Amino acid sequence: MAGEDDYDSPAWVAGDALAGDGPFDIFCSQCSAGFPVTPPLPSAVVVCPRCGWRVRLEIVPGDPGYMLLLNPLSGAEYLTRLAGSKSPPLSALSPEEMAQIRAELRGRQSPP
Ligand SMILES: [Zn+2]
Repeated sequence: MAGEDDYDSPAWVAGDALAGDGPFDIFCSQCSAGFPVTPPLPSAVVVCPRCGWRVRLEIVPGDPGYMLLLNPLSGAEYLTRLAGSKSPPLSALSPEEMAQIRAELRGRQSPP
């Protein structure tokens, strides 16, 4: 059995979702779609049931909602919603709300 260091891509997950007992969706970047997982999870690596893509869960304590990440190819900053977060999806936010969240996160996250 492969170890937890053997994975295809990371996913950032709200710790609150992992501590709960309801299912939540993990995004598979290979399928560009989510698949549900139900805690407690036996491993930090979950496997997409459609394509076998291995996703390693990076746990963010609590439920801060969103995170700023850097695109490894372009270096561009982008906003993402944590898997399992209770916060509304990005598609439900106005450009003004997104700008405010970005500003708050820049103040909170240390620079990469
Ligand atoms: Zn997949």
